[in-house]
Amino acid sequence: MAFDYLFRNVTVIDGGGGAAYRADVAVSGERIAEIAPRITTAADCEIDGAGKVLAPGFIDVHTHDDTNVIRMPAYLPKVSQGVTTVIVGNCGISAATADISGEVPDPLNLLGEAQHFVYPTVSAYAHAVEAARPAVNVATLIGHTTLRNNHMDSLLRSATEDEIAAMRRQLRAALQEGALGLSTGLAYASAFAATTEEVMALAEELAAQQGIYTTHLRSEFEPILDALDEAFRIGRHGQVPVVVSHHKCAGAKNWGRTVETLAFFDKAREQQDISCDCYPYSASSSTLDLKQITDEFDIVITWSEAHPEEAGKTLQQIADGWGMSMIEAGKRLMPAGAIYYNMDEQDVRRVLSYPASMVGSDGLPNDPMPHPRLWGAFPRVLGHYCRDEQLFPLTVAIHKMTGMSAARYRLAQRGRVKKDYYADLVLFDPATVRDVASFTDPKQPAQGIERVMVNGVMSYTGDGQITGRAGRFLRRQS
Ligand SMILES: [Zn+2]
Repeated sequence: MAFDYLFRNVTVIDGGGGAAYRADVAVSGERIAEIAPRITTAADCEIDGAGKVLAPGFIDVHTHDDTNVIRMPAYLPKVSQGVTTVIVGNCGISAATADISGEVPDPLNLLGEAQHFVYPTVSAYAHAVEAARPAVNVATLIGHTTLRNNHMDSLLRSATEDEIAAMRRQLRAALQEGALGLSTGLAYASAFAATTEEVMALAEELAAQQGIYTTHLRSEFEPILDALDEAFRIGRHGQVPVVVSHHKCAGAKNWGRTVETLAFFDKAREQQDISCDCYPYSASSSTLDLKQITDEFDIVITWSEAHPEEAGKTLQQIADGWGMSMIEAGKRLMPAGAIYYNMDEQDVRRVLSYPASMVGSDGLPNDPMPHPRLWGAFPRVLGHYCRDEQLFPLTVAIHKMTGMSAARYRLAQRGRVKKDYYADLVLFDPATVRDVASFTDPKQPAQGIERVMVNGVMSYTGDGQITGRAGRFLRRQS
C-alpha cells in the first residue's frame, strides 16, 4: 500500500534534543508511518527534502488565540511559522469557561468582545474548535481571572471562601473535560488583589488530574524575586509543575537581573519542576497599563478605543501633541494597547538559552498593529538567534519548540518525529528561514518555512496560503 506522503532525504531533527540525522519519512493518514534511511515504497506525494530540516510542528505554548482560532480558522499567522499546535488560555484569561455579561474586563478584552465569549465549559469550547476546524491544534488552560470574573462581583478584591469553592468546582470540571491546567495573570489589576492563598486553593485541584500551573507573575519589575518565590510556593503547595510565562526582567532598573532570576530558578529546580516560556524580542506588548508608563523607554500605542487615530505613535508623541503629561494622555487613550521597549537584549538571550525555557509567541491576534511576535516568533529563534547569532544549536532550538513543550503540557504523541506519532511536521530551509514581520510591518509570513503538515494534512506550502485545515482540540494526556 502506498504512503500518502514521503519526505525524501530530509535532515530529521526529532524534537527530543538529540542529534540530527538523514532519513526518508513517510506519512499515512494522520500518522508518521515509517522513518528509514531509504524508503522504497511508493507514495501519492513525494517531497524532495534535500538540504532541508524536517522537525515536529512547533507548539506555541503561550498564546491568546482562544477565540481567533474559531473566528478565523485558517490562522495563517501561526501556520506560516510552522506552528501546528497553540496553547490558549494564558495569563489568567481563557475564553473557555468564561461567562461574560456586559463589559469585558481588562485584560480579557485581549481575547475579543463580549459576543465572542460563548463557551461556558471546556466541552463547549472543544466542540466549537472541532466545528471550526482550524489549521492548528488547540489546547487550553483555564484562566484564574476568567474564574474570578465568573464568580465575583468585583475583581478588585480577594475572593471569599464561597467564591473560592465555586471557582474550584468550575476548575475541577474543566480539568475533567481536558483542560491542561490553571493560568494566572497576577500583575493585572483584575487579579492583583487575589491573595497567594486564593491561588494556592485553586492549585490544590491540579495535582489529582496532573494539571500544570502557569503564571504571568505578580511583578516582572523590581519585586520579581518575590513574585517568583510566590509562583514556586504555589507550585510546591499544589505539588504541580510551574511554568513562568514570558519570563523577563522588565523596566530599566531591572535590566541584567535574569542572572539573579535564573539562578533562583536553578535553586528551586533542585526540589520542584519549574520551567518558563519566552518570546525572542526585547519589547513586550499588552493592554496599556498606566502603572507601566515611564520615560525610560519608548511605549508605542497599538490601538485605542477612545482615539484609534493615534495608533502607531509613541505615547510621548501623543502626549506632546495634546500638550499634556504621558499619564494624562494614557488615561485619555484607555482602553488601549501598547508595545513597551522594556527589556535588555542580554536578558532575552539568557532566558532563551536557559535549559528549561520553551518558546511561546504571546502574540495578540486582535491587535490592529500587533507586536511582530504574532507572525515571527518561531522563525526568529531559528534564523536570527540560532543561525545568525549562534545562541544555541538547531537541535536545542527545535527541542524548545516541540518535544519539551509536548512533555511539559502532556500532549500525547505530539512534539516528536517518531513512528506512529501524529504527523504534525514542518519542513524548513535552515539556510534561509527568517522572520519577516517587523514592528512597522508586522503582518508578514516568515521566509524559509516550506511545508507544514497538521494531522497528516498538508496545510501550508510556503506561499502565504493555507492549503488545509485539520486542527483538533487536544486534551491533557491522563
Ligand atoms: Zn502575560
